[in-house]
Amino acid sequence: MEACTADGTFHKFLAEIKELKIDDKLAEALNNSSKPTNPGETSAQIAAQKLNKCLSTLLSCEFRTFDTLRRVRDQHRRHGASPPSLGGKSDVDANNARAIGNQLYAQRRFRDAIEMYGKGLRLSVSTASLALTFASRSAAFFEQRRYEDCLRDIDRAIDHGYPDTKRYRLDERRAKCLTLLGTGISANNDPFLLRQQQAPPDGFVGAAWIGDKPNLSHGRNARYPQMGDCLRVVADSGGAGRRIIAAKDIIPGQILVVDDPYVSCLESKAEGTHCHQCFEYSDSMIPCHNCSTVMFCSEQCRTAAETYHKRECPILHFLQFDQSLPVRNDVFRLFSSRSLDYFLHNESQVRSAIQDVHIGRLRGPVPPCDPDCLANFFALTNHIEAADSNSLFKSACLGVYLTHCLELTDFFLGDDVASYDRIRFYIAQLIVSASLVLATNSYLVKEVRLNVKNAWESDSEGVASACYPVTSYFNHACFPNAVRDYCRKAMVIMSVMEIPAGTEVTVLYGYHFTKFPKADRQVYLRDNYNFDCKCVACDGDWPVLEETETREFDCARLCQKCNATLSNEEMESSVNCKECGAELDETARELAMRWRDVMQIVNGARESSAVGAGDTDTCSKAYWKRAIEVLK
Ligand SMILES: [Zn+2]
Ligand SMILES: [Zn+2]
Ligand SMILES: [Zn+2]
Ligand SMILES: [Zn+2]
Repeated sequence: MEACTADGTFHKFLAEIKELKIDDKLAEALNNSSKPTNPGETSAQIAAQKLNKCLSTLLSCEFRTFDTLRRVRDQHRRHGASPPSLGGKSDVDANNARAIGNQLYAQRRFRDAIEMYGKGLRLSVSTASLALTFASRSAAFFEQRRYEDCLRDIDRAIDHGYPDTKRYRLDERRAKCLTLLGTGISANNDPFLLRQQQAPPDGFVGAAWIGDKPNLSHGRNARYPQMGDCLRVVADSGGAGRRIIAAKDIIPGQILVVDDPYVSCLESKAEGTHCHQCFEYSDSMIPCHNCSTVMFCSEQCRTAAETYHKRECPILHFLQFDQSLPVRNDVFRLFSSRSLDYFLHNESQVRSAIQDVHIGRLRGPVPPCDPDCLANFFALTNHIEAADSNSLFKSACLGVYLTHCLELTDFFLGDDVASYDRIRFYIAQLIVSASLVLATNSYLVKEVRLNVKNAWESDSEGVASACYPVTSYFNHACFPNAVRDYCRKAMVIMSVMEIPAGTEVTVLYGYHFTKFPKADRQVYLRDNYNFDCKCVACDGDWPVLEETETREFDCARLCQKCNATLSNEEMESSVNCKECGAELDETARELAMRWRDVMQIVNGARESSAVGAGDTDTCSKAYWKRAIEVLK
């Protein structure tokens, strides 16, 4: 198995299973038990039994894959220390990165220098290296007129022991910052200027919901605190599903739900550009103390992430899976962010939730359905009966692999040895169930890529995944009356039209009727969500909106001559472009002002910042049209 690379540990593990020559046992677990022992059993129960047999066979085996780390862990435990990171930091590499940063700085390429200093921080081992790199980055922030960012890095440099002999330079820079801040000039207070100086992806706007978490527009629902009392959850008779119904009249732009996730996890491609804890884009981040992968936007986020990251940090390379595997990091996070006691304490509720799914008893969310109630989470398990032997085997492998990973952390520590095997088996079962839940109930947390020339064509990009307590209960319509958006990791659901009491509240699972023909939508929904849409747009065979009709949504914030983006205020107050002085097009100005009014109406409490108004859901744009009509 020499061919395996370090980041292919899961493949190494699978190869070891082959070597073990337990095919007969596994085949017995997966096949022989297909003979029902009890005539009343459902196919889901039979599948679950096969899975359990397969799990216990694999759990009884020893695997070399984990040996080295296990030895290191045991050594450290004996000394009462936490295991070291395999992080890949190196002061030599950090010095190189800082030297390149300094060259870029000398060429006045501050944006690139800041990126290089960020790399230097990630790679630094010693506090001396951190101190020097923070000091260098503070100089680049100063040049970018980002005085708050500059001051923070000066403090960090000093906290990490910046040499006293050179300290006067930092003091001088600090004094200048404070003076300039006193005059009220700082790029940190001008989001538009800030974005120009950073190096985010093209069209980047950031979280769809800019600013703090909004408040619910109605009173809090007594049973489900993340929903307004304008909504209620209804379980359909006949097991067809659960729906959300308006309990009061709702008007457009009201905040109906603010939902915190059960579990959320940054995508690995966003590591280094987005905060590991809150998912915000930042180029002024600070590194994890131990690994060279993870960064945080602030000391607060770094502290908040400690619960799970101190477990994940030493085994990060065990948790890297390539795209071909149906493995998700959020599965492990569900466990690394909670204590074993928590899972033991809730064992009976969790077991009965899973049992209900297996016998086909549909249950509504048990109030208050908060992110801590894992019984509701596991009640979302589905489709185990559809799994063939091969996929049951794969699920079991994953469950056992992640159980071993958890054993490398302090998750199982302090537990009584007598019941260790039972507890370990229970957790392995939960890991398998969690991977089934997250495969179908996890959302991509998106940020907006605004197309400034044509906002209609704006797009969004997933940076993280998350699974939510009440959002899962909203059904789809191709012409929905509410939209979903993200405020960092929280899900916000907002009404986009009038919803009279008694009407079902719906969201879009993708494919709005204005953009995709009915046939495409139906195929997509059947393939991905297993249902035939009978919404009003599908029933009535509504046509897609013609391109011409959408033209009026073009974002008219551009100077026709130099392509400068102008803020609403600039559009309103001036007839000339601030960049090139050209006279601004009258219709464009008028559109920009209407756009702003529309945004205010549709967004309600939402802050539309100077950088602009994008939206993760193309469907909301259709409602902006409605709102324009309302305005007329
Ligand atoms: Zn953060
Ligand atoms: Zn780390
Ligand atoms: Zn439909
Ligand atoms: Zn211009």
